[in-house]
Amino acid sequence: MPELPEVETVRRGLNSLTLNQAIIGGEVLLERTIAQPASTREFLQKIKGNAIALWHRRGKYLIAQLSPSPGWWGVHLRMTGQLLWLHQDEPLHKHTRVRLFFQGHRELRFVDQRTFGQMWLVNPQVQIESVITGLAKLAADPFSDEFTVEYLANKLHNRRRPIKNALLDQSVVAGLGNIYADEALFLSKIRPDTQCIHLQRSQIADLHQAIIKVLASSIEAGGTTFSNFLNVKGVNGNYGGVAWVYNRTGEPCKVCSQPIQRIKLGGRSSHFCQQCQT
Ligand SMILES: [Zn+2]
Repeated sequence: MPELPEVETVRRGLNSLTLNQAIIGGEVLLERTIAQPASTREFLQKIKGNAIALWHRRGKYLIAQLSPSPGWWGVHLRMTGQLLWLHQDEPLHKHTRVRLFFQGHRELRFVDQRTFGQMWLVNPQVQIESVITGLAKLAADPFSDEFTVEYLANKLHNRRRPIKNALLDQSVVAGLGNIYADEALFLSKIRPDTQCIHLQRSQIADLHQAIIKVLASSIEAGGTTFSNFLNVKGVNGNYGGVAWVYNRTGEPCKVCSQPIQRIKLGGRSSHFCQQCQT
Protein backbone atom coordinates (compact mmCIF):
# COMPACT_ATOMS: atom_id res chain seq x y z
CA MET A 1 0.00 0.00 0.00
CA PRO A 2 1.42 3.42 -0.86
CA GLU A 3 2.47 5.23 2.31
CA LEU A 4 3.31 8.88 2.81
CA PRO A 5 6.72 8.79 1.03
CA GLU A 6 5.24 7.08 -2.03
CA VAL A 7 2.36 9.54 -2.21
CA GLU A 8 4.76 12.44 -1.72
CA THR A 9 6.96 11.00 -4.51
CA VAL A 10 3.93 10.84 -6.78
CA ARG A 11 2.98 14.42 -5.84
CA ARG A 12 6.43 15.72 -6.74
CA GLY A 13 6.38 13.83 -10.01
CA LEU A 14 2.96 15.21 -10.87
CA ASN A 15 4.09 18.74 -10.04
CA SER A 16 7.05 18.40 -12.40
CA LEU A 17 5.05 16.97 -15.30
CA THR A 18 1.37 17.86 -15.30
CA LEU A 19 0.96 21.53 -14.35
CA ASN A 20 -0.61 24.28 -16.46
CA GLN A 21 -1.65 22.09 -19.37
CA ALA A 22 -5.30 22.09 -20.42
CA ILE A 23 -7.34 18.95 -19.84
CA ILE A 24 -9.11 18.47 -23.14
CA GLY A 25 -11.13 15.36 -22.39
CA GLY A 26 -11.24 12.09 -20.60
CA GLU A 27 -12.80 8.72 -20.09
CA VAL A 28 -14.02 6.89 -16.98
CA LEU A 29 -13.72 3.12 -17.33
CA LEU A 30 -14.84 2.24 -13.80
CA GLU A 31 -17.68 4.40 -12.50
CA ARG A 32 -17.18 3.80 -8.82
CA THR A 33 -13.68 5.25 -8.89
CA ILE A 34 -15.45 8.64 -9.06
CA ALA A 35 -16.84 9.17 -5.56
CA GLN A 36 -18.04 12.71 -6.29
CA PRO A 37 -19.90 13.94 -8.34
CA ALA A 38 -22.35 11.06 -8.61
CA SER A 39 -22.31 11.10 -12.40
CA THR A 40 -19.09 10.38 -14.25
CA ARG A 41 -20.35 12.55 -17.11
CA GLU A 42 -20.53 15.50 -14.76
CA PHE A 43 -17.02 14.70 -13.52
CA LEU A 44 -15.63 14.81 -17.05
CA GLN A 45 -17.64 17.90 -18.01
CA LYS A 46 -16.44 19.85 -14.99
CA ILE A 47 -12.77 18.92 -15.16
CA LYS A 48 -12.53 19.53 -18.92
CA GLY A 49 -11.08 22.91 -19.89
CA ASN A 50 -9.20 23.19 -16.63
CA ALA A 51 -5.52 22.82 -15.95
CA ILE A 52 -3.79 21.76 -12.73
CA ALA A 53 -2.23 24.74 -10.98
CA LEU A 54 -0.58 22.71 -8.22
CA TRP A 55 -0.70 19.32 -6.50
CA HIS A 56 -0.94 19.29 -2.71
CA ARG A 57 -0.82 16.37 -0.28
CA ARG A 58 -2.70 15.88 2.98
CA GLY A 59 -1.79 12.57 4.61
CA LYS A 60 -2.13 10.13 1.72
CA TYR A 61 -4.63 12.27 -0.20
CA LEU A 62 -3.43 13.97 -3.37
CA ILE A 63 -5.28 17.20 -4.05
CA ALA A 64 -4.99 19.10 -7.33
CA GLN A 65 -5.85 22.76 -7.39
CA LEU A 66 -7.74 23.43 -10.62
CA SER A 67 -7.62 26.53 -12.80
CA PRO A 68 -9.18 28.62 -14.36
CA SER A 69 -12.43 27.28 -12.81
CA PRO A 70 -11.48 27.18 -9.16
CA GLY A 71 -12.01 23.85 -7.47
CA TRP A 72 -10.21 20.77 -6.26
CA TRP A 73 -9.61 17.33 -7.67
CA GLY A 74 -8.84 14.85 -4.89
CA VAL A 75 -7.30 11.41 -5.47
CA HIS A 76 -6.64 8.60 -2.99
CA LEU A 77 -4.56 5.70 -4.32
CA ARG A 78 -5.65 3.30 -1.51
CA MET A 79 -4.14 -0.20 -1.98
CA THR A 80 -2.93 -0.30 -5.57
CA GLY A 81 -3.79 2.97 -7.34
CA GLN A 82 -1.22 4.52 -9.68
CA LEU A 83 -1.28 7.81 -11.54
CA LEU A 84 0.82 7.50 -14.66
CA TRP A 85 1.82 10.28 -17.05
CA LEU A 86 1.92 8.72 -20.49
CA HIS A 87 1.63 9.27 -24.19
CA GLN A 88 -1.97 8.60 -25.24
CA ASP A 89 -0.85 5.84 -27.58
CA GLU A 90 0.54 3.70 -24.74
CA PRO A 91 -1.42 0.41 -24.73
CA LEU A 92 -4.22 0.35 -22.16
CA HIS A 93 -3.47 -1.74 -19.10
CA LYS A 94 -6.47 -3.88 -18.18
CA HIS A 95 -6.75 -2.23 -14.76
CA THR A 96 -7.05 1.29 -16.23
CA ARG A 97 -9.94 3.08 -14.45
CA VAL A 98 -9.78 6.75 -15.45
CA ARG A 99 -8.04 8.59 -18.28
CA LEU A 100 -7.59 12.35 -18.57
CA PHE A 101 -6.34 13.70 -21.87
CA PHE A 102 -4.04 16.70 -22.01
CA GLN A 103 -2.72 18.82 -24.85
CA GLY A 104 0.10 17.31 -26.86
CA HIS A 105 -1.32 13.73 -26.80
CA ARG A 106 -0.37 13.42 -23.13
CA GLU A 107 -2.50 11.52 -20.68
CA LEU A 108 -2.81 11.13 -16.93
CA ARG A 109 -3.93 7.56 -16.47
CA PHE A 110 -5.28 6.07 -13.25
CA VAL A 111 -4.51 2.35 -13.03
CA ASP A 112 -5.87 0.47 -10.01
CA GLN A 113 -5.87 -3.30 -9.76
CA ARG A 114 -7.81 -3.67 -6.49
CA THR A 115 -10.27 -0.82 -7.32
CA PHE A 116 -10.29 0.80 -3.87
CA GLY A 117 -8.86 4.05 -5.29
CA GLN A 118 -11.17 7.07 -5.28
CA MET A 119 -11.51 10.52 -6.83
CA TRP A 120 -13.54 13.56 -5.88
CA LEU A 121 -14.25 16.84 -7.62
CA VAL A 122 -14.94 19.59 -5.09
CA ASN A 123 -16.59 22.93 -5.87
CA PRO A 124 -14.79 25.94 -4.41
CA GLN A 125 -17.95 27.03 -2.55
CA VAL A 126 -17.94 24.01 -0.25
CA GLN A 127 -15.58 22.89 2.50
CA ILE A 128 -13.27 20.26 1.03
CA GLU A 129 -13.64 18.13 4.20
CA SER A 130 -17.42 17.93 3.68
CA VAL A 131 -16.85 16.11 0.39
CA ILE A 132 -13.60 14.22 1.07
CA THR A 133 -14.72 13.22 4.56
CA GLY A 134 -11.55 11.24 5.32
CA LEU A 135 -9.65 14.53 5.51
CA ALA A 136 -11.61 15.61 8.58
CA LYS A 137 -10.33 12.64 10.61
CA LEU A 138 -6.69 13.03 9.60
CA ALA A 139 -4.09 13.74 12.24
CA ALA A 140 -1.24 16.19 11.69
CA ASP A 141 1.09 15.50 8.81
CA PRO A 142 4.53 14.44 10.12
CA PHE A 143 6.12 17.27 8.13
CA SER A 144 3.81 19.98 9.45
CA ASP A 145 4.65 22.39 12.28
CA GLU A 146 1.73 20.96 14.19
CA PHE A 147 3.48 17.57 14.55
CA THR A 148 5.57 18.15 17.67
CA VAL A 149 6.72 15.80 20.45
CA GLU A 150 3.94 17.31 22.55
CA TYR A 151 1.37 16.53 19.86
CA LEU A 152 2.49 12.89 19.60
CA ALA A 153 2.63 12.50 23.39
CA ASN A 154 -0.94 13.79 23.68
CA LYS A 155 -2.15 11.38 21.02
CA LEU A 156 -0.52 8.40 22.78
CA HIS A 157 -1.34 9.52 26.30
CA ASN A 158 -2.75 6.76 28.49
CA ARG A 159 -3.68 4.54 25.56
CA ARG A 160 -3.75 0.82 26.30
CA ARG A 161 -2.78 -0.47 22.90
CA PRO A 162 0.50 -1.46 21.27
CA ILE A 163 2.45 1.48 19.91
CA LYS A 164 2.58 -0.19 16.48
CA ASN A 165 -1.23 -0.18 16.25
CA ALA A 166 -1.34 3.46 17.33
CA LEU A 167 1.16 4.47 14.63
CA LEU A 168 -1.02 2.89 11.92
CA ASP A 169 -4.04 4.90 13.13
CA GLN A 170 -4.41 7.83 10.71
CA SER A 171 -5.96 9.93 13.47
CA VAL A 172 -2.67 9.66 15.44
CA VAL A 173 -0.18 10.29 12.60
CA ALA A 174 -1.25 10.96 9.02
CA GLY A 175 0.36 8.88 6.31
CA LEU A 176 2.33 6.33 8.32
CA GLY A 177 1.85 2.69 7.29
CA ASN A 178 3.33 -0.71 8.10
CA ILE A 179 6.78 -0.23 6.57
CA TYR A 180 7.65 3.11 8.12
CA ALA A 181 6.03 2.30 11.46
CA ASP A 182 8.34 -0.75 11.78
CA GLU A 183 11.36 1.25 10.68
CA ALA A 184 10.64 4.19 13.00
CA LEU A 185 10.20 1.83 15.96
CA PHE A 186 13.54 0.20 15.20
CA LEU A 187 15.30 3.57 14.99
CA SER A 188 13.79 4.63 18.31
CA LYS A 189 14.59 1.22 19.92
CA ILE A 190 10.97 0.56 20.91
CA ARG A 191 9.37 -2.89 20.62
CA PRO A 192 6.22 -2.73 18.48
CA ASP A 193 4.10 -4.44 21.15
CA THR A 194 4.93 -1.88 23.86
CA GLN A 195 1.72 -0.46 25.31
CA CYS A 196 1.48 3.30 24.65
CA ILE A 197 0.82 3.92 28.32
CA HIS A 198 4.25 2.51 29.21
CA LEU A 199 6.24 4.81 26.91
CA GLN A 200 8.58 7.28 28.56
CA ARG A 201 8.60 10.87 27.42
CA SER A 202 12.16 10.43 26.09
CA GLN A 203 11.04 7.42 24.03
CA ILE A 204 8.23 9.45 22.49
CA ALA A 205 10.74 12.17 21.62
CA ASP A 206 13.00 9.57 19.96
CA LEU A 207 10.04 8.11 18.11
CA HIS A 208 8.92 11.55 16.92
CA GLN A 209 12.36 12.18 15.48
CA ALA A 210 12.56 8.68 13.95
CA ILE A 211 9.19 9.06 12.17
CA ILE A 212 10.35 12.24 10.43
CA LYS A 213 13.78 10.79 9.66
CA VAL A 214 12.54 7.55 8.13
CA LEU A 215 9.91 9.30 6.00
CA ALA A 216 12.34 11.96 4.81
CA SER A 217 15.00 9.43 3.81
CA SER A 218 12.44 7.38 1.93
CA ILE A 219 11.16 10.42 0.05
CA GLU A 220 14.74 11.20 -0.85
CA ALA A 221 15.15 7.66 -2.20
CA GLY A 222 11.96 8.02 -4.26
CA GLY A 223 9.57 5.87 -2.20
CA THR A 224 9.73 2.20 -1.27
CA THR A 225 10.09 -0.67 -3.65
CA PHE A 226 7.16 -2.97 -3.31
CA SER A 227 5.38 -4.89 -5.98
CA ASN A 228 2.73 -2.36 -6.93
CA PHE A 229 4.30 1.03 -6.33
CA LEU A 230 5.40 2.95 -9.38
CA ASN A 231 6.09 6.65 -9.57
CA VAL A 232 4.40 8.74 -12.27
CA LYS A 233 6.94 7.62 -14.84
CA GLY A 234 6.40 3.95 -13.96
CA VAL A 235 9.69 3.49 -12.12
CA ASN A 236 10.16 1.76 -8.74
CA GLY A 237 11.74 3.57 -5.80
CA ASN A 238 14.36 1.76 -3.72
CA TYR A 239 13.81 2.20 0.00
CA GLY A 240 13.16 -1.55 0.39
CA GLY A 241 16.84 -2.26 -0.12
CA VAL A 242 17.84 -0.18 2.89
CA ALA A 243 15.19 -1.31 5.41
CA TRP A 244 16.46 -2.05 8.93
CA VAL A 245 13.73 -4.53 9.84
CA TYR A 246 10.75 -4.37 7.49
CA ASN A 247 10.25 -7.66 5.65
CA ARG A 248 13.60 -9.00 6.93
CA THR A 249 12.28 -11.84 9.15
CA GLY A 250 15.10 -14.23 10.07
CA GLU A 251 17.79 -12.04 8.52
CA PRO A 252 20.52 -10.66 10.79
CA CYS A 253 19.91 -7.28 12.42
CA LYS A 254 22.18 -4.69 10.78
CA VAL A 255 23.21 -3.46 14.24
CA CYS A 256 23.58 -6.57 16.45
CA SER A 257 23.31 -9.55 14.02
CA GLN A 258 20.41 -11.18 15.92
CA PRO A 259 17.70 -12.55 13.59
CA ILE A 260 14.83 -10.13 12.94
CA GLN A 261 11.58 -11.30 14.52
CA ARG A 262 8.05 -11.06 13.18
CA ILE A 263 4.86 -10.86 15.23
CA LYS A 264 1.26 -10.08 14.32
CA LEU A 265 -0.29 -6.98 15.83
CA GLY A 266 -3.76 -5.84 14.82
CA GLY A 267 -3.66 -8.32 11.94
CA ARG A 268 -0.49 -6.78 10.48
CA SER A 269 3.04 -8.21 10.48
CA SER A 270 5.48 -6.33 12.67
CA HIS A 271 9.22 -6.75 12.24
CA PHE A 272 11.68 -5.95 15.02
CA CYS A 273 14.97 -6.87 16.69
CA GLN A 274 14.59 -8.46 20.10
CA GLN A 275 17.97 -7.19 21.22
CA CYS A 276 17.92 -3.62 19.92
CA GLN A 277 14.27 -2.87 20.76
CA THR A 278 12.99 -3.09 24.31
ZN1 LIG B 1 19.55 -5.71 16.69
